[in-house]
Amino acid sequence: MSLDPIPHRTAPDLSPFAGIPRAHALDDAAISALEHADRAHLWKPFTQMAGYLQDTPLVMAEGRGNWLRDVRGRAFLDGVSSLWVNLHGHSHPTIVAALRQQLERLDHSTLLGPTNVPAVQLGKELVRIAPGDRLTRVFYSDSGSTAVEVAVKMAYQFHAQHRNPAQRARTVFISMTNAYHGDTLGSVSVGGIGLFHQLYAPLLFQTVQAPAPDPYHRAFGQDPAAHEDACLDALEGRFAEHEGRVAALIMEPLMQGAAGMLAHSASYLRRAAEVCRAHGALLILDEVATGFGRTGTMFACEQAGVVPDLLCMAKGISGGVLPLAATLATEEVHDGFLGEHSEYRTFFHGHSYTGNPLACAAALASLQVFADEQVLQRVADRVAQLALRLAVVGAHPHVGDIRRHGLMTGIEVVADKATGAPFGSELRVGNRIIARAMERGVLVRPLGDVVVLMPPLSITADELDLLTGVVLACIDEVTAELAP
Ligand SMILES: *Cc1c(COP(=O)(O)O)cnc(C)c1O
Repeated sequence: MSLDPIPHRTAPDLSPFAGIPRAHALDDAAISALEHADRAHLWKPFTQMAGYLQDTPLVMAEGRGNWLRDVRGRAFLDGVSSLWVNLHGHSHPTIVAALRQQLERLDHSTLLGPTNVPAVQLGKELVRIAPGDRLTRVFYSDSGSTAVEVAVKMAYQFHAQHRNPAQRARTVFISMTNAYHGDTLGSVSVGGIGLFHQLYAPLLFQTVQAPAPDPYHRAFGQDPAAHEDACLDALEGRFAEHEGRVAALIMEPLMQGAAGMLAHSASYLRRAAEVCRAHGALLILDEVATGFGRTGTMFACEQAGVVPDLLCMAKGISGGVLPLAATLATEEVHDGFLGEHSEYRTFFHGHSYTGNPLACAAALASLQVFADEQVLQRVADRVAQLALRLAVVGAHPHVGDIRRHGLMTGIEVVADKATGAPFGSELRVGNRIIARAMERGVLVRPLGDVVVLMPPLSITADELDLLTGVVLACIDEVTAELAP
C-alpha cells in the first residue's frame, strides 16, 4: 500500500495571530524582567529546575483558537491541549461569554451548606452525559488527583461502614502497573510509575498491583490479544488471592496516559470490569485524561459498554479553562453514606472551592459547545485523518510503535525498529524532538521516548497536518543525528 505523504504546512501560514498586534505592551526590558522573576521565584511542576534555570523561559501571553503566543510574539500550535485540558481552543467565545456573565452574578459561594446555580445545572448535565444510567451523584473537587482521592475514600468508607458486616473486610485496592492517577498521596498510592512514585513508598498505603497490558513487558512480537489474555488471568488471580477483601479495582480505561500512552483494547476493559464485578468489588474508572471526547467518544468506557461505580473526571471538564473535577457515584454507593447524624456515616471530605460557580459555568458552556458544534462528529473526521497521517509516521525507521485511541496518541521512538531497542535514556531523544518542534512553532511534550499528541478537539485539518508533519520531520532529523 502506498501512503499519501503528509501535506506540507507551516506555523506562520496557519497561525491565527499573523498580522495581529500583541495584546500587551511589554517592551524588551519588561519581558526580561518577567523572565528573570520567573527564574527567581517559580518552582515548576515535574521539572528539573537546574536545567530549567539555564534556559530562557517560554512566557505565554495569549491564546487564540488552537494556538498560543508568547510575550515575544512567537506563535505555537498547542499540540498537547495545554497538557491535555483544552478542548475547543483557547478563549472560545461561548465559554468566555458564560464566564463573563457568571462573574457578574456570583464569583464563589461554598457548597458546604448552600448550593449554587451553575453547580446544580452542571451536576444534572454530567449525570445526563455520563455512561449508562447508574451514575447519578456528582461530588465536585478541583483536580484529577482530588477526583481520585475522593473515589478511593468513598470506596473505602462505603465498605468500612457497610450494613452487611461481611463487606467490611473489603479494604484492599487493586491498581495497575504503570498507572497514573495524580500526585497527592492517595492517588500516588494507587499509581504504578516507579519514577514518580517509588520514593514516597513509606508514606503510601499498600495496594495489590495487577499487570496492565503493556508493549514493554509484552514479549517482542507477541500477539497483543494473547498478552491481554495473560494480563486478565493475572487480574483474576489477584482477586482470587484476596477473595472477599477487595474494595475496588481502579484503572485508566483504554489508555494509560502518563505511562507513555499505553493502550489496551475495549475487550480487555470489558473483561476486566467483568472480573471485578464477579468478585463483588467496586470499579473506579479514572477518565481524567480520556474523558470529554479524547478517545473519540465522550467517555472511553462507552467503547467497552462498561459503566463503573465511581467515575473520575477532571482535565477537559471545564474545556480546559478553570480547575474543576468531579467524581460520579452510583445511587447505591451514595446510599451507603445515609444515616442519622449520630451514626457518622457522612463523607467527611471537601475543598474550599468545591463546586466553584465560575468553573461550573465554564464546564456548562463547554458542554454547550459539544452540542452547538457537533464536536464528536467533527472529531470523527479528524480521527480518520490522524490515522492516515500516523500510518506515514509509523513507516519511519525509528518509529517503533504508535498507540492511539481517538486523538490520544503516543509515538514511540526507538533506536532499532526490528528489536524495539530504545535509544539510551541519557540521550533524551523525546526532549530533543520536542525542542525541534518548538522551533517550528509546534508545542508537544514527550513522556520519555514517546512523543505525545493530544490536540484540542477543535484542531483543524490543516493544523493536524502541521502537527503530524512537524513531528515526523523532527523525529527524522533527531534520529538521523543520533544514529547516522
Ligand atoms: C492528569 C491525570 C490525573 C491527575 O490530574 P491533575 O488534575 O493533574 O491532578 C489523574 N489521572 C489521570 C489519568 C491523569 O491523566
